[in-house]
Amino acid sequence: MDRGVEVSVFEKSRGVGGRLSTRRSRGDMLDSSGEWQCDHGAPFFSATTPEFSAEVSRWVAQGFASPWAARWKLQEVRAVQSEQDALAENPLEKIFVGFPSMNAIAKRLAQEIESRVLAEHTVTRIQKFGAMWTLETKEHGVSHAEFDAVILAVPAPQAAALLESSSGCVPDHFIARAETAQMAPDWTVMARFAASTALPFDAARTNNSPLELAVCDRSKPGRSGAELWVLHASAAWSAQHLEASPEFVVDALMRAFKELGAPAPESVVAHRWRFANASATFDPTIDTHHASSWDATRAVGMIGDWNHSAGVEGAWLSANSVVRAVFAEPTR
Ligand SMILES: Cc1cc2nc3c(=O)[nH]c(=O)nc-3n(C[C@H](O)[C@H](O)[C@H](O)COP(=O)(O)OP(=O)(O)OC[C@H]3O[C@@H](n4cnc5c(N)ncnc54)[C@H](O)[C@@H]3O)c2cc1C
Repeated sequence: MDRGVEVSVFEKSRGVGGRLSTRRSRGDMLDSSGEWQCDHGAPFFSATTPEFSAEVSRWVAQGFASPWAARWKLQEVRAVQSEQDALAENPLEKIFVGFPSMNAIAKRLAQEIESRVLAEHTVTRIQKFGAMWTLETKEHGVSHAEFDAVILAVPAPQAAALLESSSGCVPDHFIARAETAQMAPDWTVMARFAASTALPFDAARTNNSPLELAVCDRSKPGRSGAELWVLHASAAWSAQHLEASPEFVVDALMRAFKELGAPAPESVVAHRWRFANASATFDPTIDTHHASSWDATRAVGMIGDWNHSAGVEGAWLSANSVVRAVFAEPTR
């Protein structure tokens, strides 16, 4: 790391990326045996603050992110006032994607800081002995390495469980924050088409529940292969149908997509994100939260969208702010 610190990343999945996820698969779509790939977590992100905009410009210059000049279709259902407001705020002008896939960003950032990534290490407890931290994982028990500091970078419900089992070593207000943070679900359907859909847009946003967002994955920079659309249900509909069957969800979202002009897909698969999007908890323009997300006495911190504001930008601002607090750098 450029600050002379050695970083180890304990990651429960097979690789880094988290909700900046790219799903690669062979033959597990319903009625299909083909190979496919798409961003099935965050489809894109925006950069509104000067700090994050500068960082994204660096990612773009170094080739692992790209602006995406999508052709949009917006379909408003005027009866729903609050949804109209959300549509009006949609930042259609300047959105970005990872290049050539969403998870390229996390992979590259992990490399840049020369971190040691320990995949399939699900942290279940952190404990402090004297000045040093040790981590316990589900797969490997207590880690042999000792750490000067620990930063949790996991969604709120997972942080809450981890902090609870580590109580006594972590500040009580961390536990309280993680337990009360709200995260909304997102039912996602990936639909592959045998031939071009010829739809006159690359992405559509509608407030006509259940479908909120439809994204043509192949239209993003650097993608190739069969035409594949990722359909995101609204948070409200996803919450209401959280325990529904994948078949029910596929049927509902494909019907809504058909209303936007889509033909029948060759194959489909559904994925339920229980904790997709954090509710904004902090004003991203006011950088005050790091004081409560980093405990300098215990050398423990927590970051992520739910600690700051929704989305990739909120997650990055949260991390950046805590890193500055760790190194006692002034806020800008
Ligand atoms: C379907 C969907 C749509 C989205 N749409 C958008 C959008 O349009 N725009 C936008 O900006 N953002 C969007 N987001 C949100 C965005 O992806 C997140 O805000 C951002 O990726 C959060 O990053 P993070 O590092 O805080 O957490 P995550 O990306 O969730 O990373 C947490 C990591 O911790 C790992 N982990 C969890 N528990 C443990 C444990 N106990 N031990 C070890 N590892 C663990 C996980 O495997 C994961 O890799 C969307 C997300 C989803 C899922």
